[in-house]
This record gives sequence, C-alpha cells and structure tokens, in this order.
Amino acid sequence: MSLVHLTATEQKQLLTTGKISSLELIEAYLDRIATHNEKVGAYLRISADSARRSAKDIDARRAAGQPVGKLAGLPIAVKDVLCQRGERTTCASKMLEGFRPPYSATVIENLIAEDAILIGRTNMDEFAMGGSTENSAFQQTHNPWDLERTPGGSSGGSTACVAASMAPLSIGTDTGGSIRQPAAFCGVVGLKPTYGRVSRFGLVAFASSLDQVGPVAHTVEDAALLLEVIAGHDPRDETSLPDPVPSFSATVGKPIKNLRIGVVADHFSEGLDSEVEAAVRAAIETYASMGATIKEITLPHAKYAVATYYVIAPSEASSNLARYDGVHYGYRTDEPAMLAELTLERKQLAAEGRQDAADAIDSALVRMYRRTRAEGFGPEVKRRIMLGTYALSAGYYDAYYLKALKVRRLIRQDFDRAFEEVDLIASPVTAAPAFRLAEMADDPLAMYLVDLYTVSANLAGIPGISLPCGQTSTGLPIGLQLLAPALEEERLLQGAHMMEQATEWHTQRTPHL
Ligand code: GLN
Repeated sequence: MSLVHLTATEQKQLLTTGKISSLELIEAYLDRIATHNEKVGAYLRISADSARRSAKDIDARRAAGQPVGKLAGLPIAVKDVLCQRGERTTCASKMLEGFRPPYSATVIENLIAEDAILIGRTNMDEFAMGGSTENSAFQQTHNPWDLERTPGGSSGGSTACVAASMAPLSIGTDTGGSIRQPAAFCGVVGLKPTYGRVSRFGLVAFASSLDQVGPVAHTVEDAALLLEVIAGHDPRDETSLPDPVPSFSATVGKPIKNLRIGVVADHFSEGLDSEVEAAVRAAIETYASMGATIKEITLPHAKYAVATYYVIAPSEASSNLARYDGVHYGYRTDEPAMLAELTLERKQLAAEGRQDAADAIDSALVRMYRRTRAEGFGPEVKRRIMLGTYALSAGYYDAYYLKALKVRRLIRQDFDRAFEEVDLIASPVTAAPAFRLAEMADDPLAMYLVDLYTVSANLAGIPGISLPCGQTSTGLPIGLQLLAPALEEERLLQGAHMMEQATEWHTQRTPHL
C-alpha cells in the first residue's frame, strides 16, 4: 500500500513518529492528483505551492520540537463553498467567477489553527444544489469506482477526491444529503453534524436553516478527528450551539453497550434496489450479532420529507441568492452601460425633473440585474429560485411555505419520539447505487427523489453518518446511514465505528485507479 492509501490516522502516526515528513506526504498526493485528477475531475483548483510551503513550515516546527496541531501536516481538500481570505471561492458558479472573499470561514480558520494543509478546492453542484455534481458550471466529476457514473452530490468533488486517494480528508456540506449521499456513492465515510454544531460563518448560504459543514474520510476514526477540529461554538454564527465538543477521536473506539438500533419498515419498501437492501439488512444483522437490540420504529411523517424539503430549501435559497445582483459579488453582464454611471445619471435627471429619462435609466439598471442573473446562474439554480419565489409569494405563502414549516415540526417530533426507544436509527442512504452520468440530468423530479432517505435529518436538525456497508455485484459501493439525536455525534461515531470494526469495507480502495 502506498502512502496515499493509508488513513489520516495512520499518516498522522507516521508524521508524529518522524517516519515521514509532511512534505513527502504532500508530494505523494500532488503526484497522485497529477495522475488522476483529470480523469476524476474532483478538484477545481490545486494549491501546490502554498501546500508545499505549509508542509515545510510544519516539518521545521516539528523538527525544532515545537508543538503542532491535531491535523499537523495532513492534506485536506475543501468544497469550493467555504470562503477563504484572498482565495477564489466559486461555488462552482459562473456567478462567483473572480470572487475573492475578504475573510475566511471559521471552519477554514479551525483547520489552519490545527495545522492542516489546504491542498485544493473541490467541485460541487452549483451553490450546492443537486445530487450528482453535474450542475457545476465548470467541470464534470466522475465516480472513482466507475468513471461513467456520478460521484453523487453536491459534495461529489470532496467524496471523489478521498475515494480516489487524492486527499485523506475533505470537507463537504450537507443541506439535504450532500455529504452522506456522495459518501455512499463513493464508498467513503461522510458525516452531517447536528445543525449548529459546526459554524456556518463564511459558508456561502444555500438554505440557512438546513446547511451544515461536515467531514469526509476513509474511516469513522478519521471523520471523528476532523469533526473534533471543525466543531464548536462560534459567536459569528448566531445559530451556533454553545455546547462543548467532546473529544470524538478519543471516544470513537469505545463500543456502546446495550445498543438499541431502530429500523423503519417503510425504508425497505418498493423502489429499493435489492443489492442495497441486502447490504443494509446485513449491516443491521451485524449489529444484532454484536448484541444490539433491533427495534422496529415508525416515522409517520417521513413520507412528506422530500416534498417539505423542496419547499423550504428553495424558499430559503431564493432569498439567499437575491444578493447576486452583479453589484456586490463576482459576475456582472458586460452590458456596456455601467452601474455607477447609470446611478449618477439617474440622480441628475431626477434633479432636473426629467422623470421619464430617469425611469429609462431605472429600467437599464433592472436590465443589468436581469441579464447578470440570466447569464450567471445555471438552470437548476434558476429553477430553485423560481420555486422558492413562488412558494413565498403572497397568496401561496400559507399554502406552501407555512405548511412546509408545520410538517417539518411533525417530522422533528417523529424523531423525538423514536429516540425515546432507540439510540440510533439505521437505514439505506440511497435507494440505489451511483447512477450513470447524464442519466437523470433531464429529470429534476427523479433527482429530487434520490434524497428520500437523507433530507429528514436536515429538516430535524439531527446528525447523520454514511459509511460503506457493501458493494454491488459490479463493484459499486453501498452506504449505511445511521442517525442519532441532536448533539449525539459521539454516540453516532461510536456506533458507526462498531460496524466498521466488524467489516472490511472501509479498507477497500478503488480498483481501477
Ligand atoms: N440534493 C439535495 C438538493 O439538491 C441536497 C443538496 C445539499 O445537501 N446541498 O437540494
């Protein structure tokens, strides 16, 4: 096994004991990226020079006996949706072309504080809207297990780069499943924390009441280490939770005694791929053989989750994306009439009492906004803006948005009730393994339905993890989802680790790359 195939924890061990230097590790990954990224398309941009510089700096500090951080010298890939000061942050959208944020996201600051090395930015669905990474304005990402298939999305670049051993760790975001679904499709571990557990400061907003940042890794242990670094209270995010962060990496290996696993019969109904069903059932059996109690539970409102999500998420998106007007950020149509001149001219005309001419300028301004947005956003983002604007408009607000909020509460109450009886809920992550690229590109509804098993956790604000639990006969990864009550990431990680210890799926690496 080469260096890049090891887990982050194993690499950390080699770094700590001086068996390898961080620069060696970075060079190994840069080589690997140079060989494979063109095929896989996981990275949008690589920061080779700054990664080498940081590695040398950390190696020197270590050699001098100075203290180093928890992720010292380990490369990490970051989804291109988190702001980094002075660095391009595109959200895979033409709209943010050329945008360089004046500040860094708290997650980025936390990574740097623990001496992680930011090696590159990963591809995603535009503004995180999608489930296949095909909505990127820039490039296609391929599933490293089968290049003709999707890696999933929207964090498809982040999961593909770990699966293809082009980074040991990465950061994704999950609004309706965007960490867990691509993790399942790519055979890696992905965790969506409790809403509020990880700061959203500096995360470009999609749906603010649902968005969470989370870790992607080869193993549960690695995910625990990364979560520990990025989680914690942040006064700059008013929805950030004040609760202390347990040392996940210290407790992840402790098995849970008398574990009660909840299973929902509806999750195994028609539409579920038979190989996925068999793998997930086998995983549940494995828990039973470890002494866990398997209990059937019900989540009566789960069947409304996709409909609820696709009212709430677009509604919030339509409001969040109003800021891209060609004035504040990034892209502006190259219509010759420039905003500043227009504004000045308008003022003068109005002062001279020439109202008609002033109105004409107003319409030129509106034209600039309209053209900027027409040219800057891709089709899926426009669809979400239209859906959301409709759901929030006078006359429809009560029927759609308000109704969705009420159902959201019922979904949350279902989980509260279920977690009185069980510690974790186990289910598939998706109804089928990774689909072929372009297979669903023209069918937004089919694409939305892929989110069946994942969106409930976002609506309820609870944490969820996806971990490899099998493979299809053609060698595509299959994921197991575990959900826990709010703030019980520790339990979630311990439960997931128990499964990982009992199976070998996490040791598998893509056979063709
Ligand atoms: N597939 C879902 C959507 O398109 C989830 C996206 C996400 O979690 N960012 O909205």
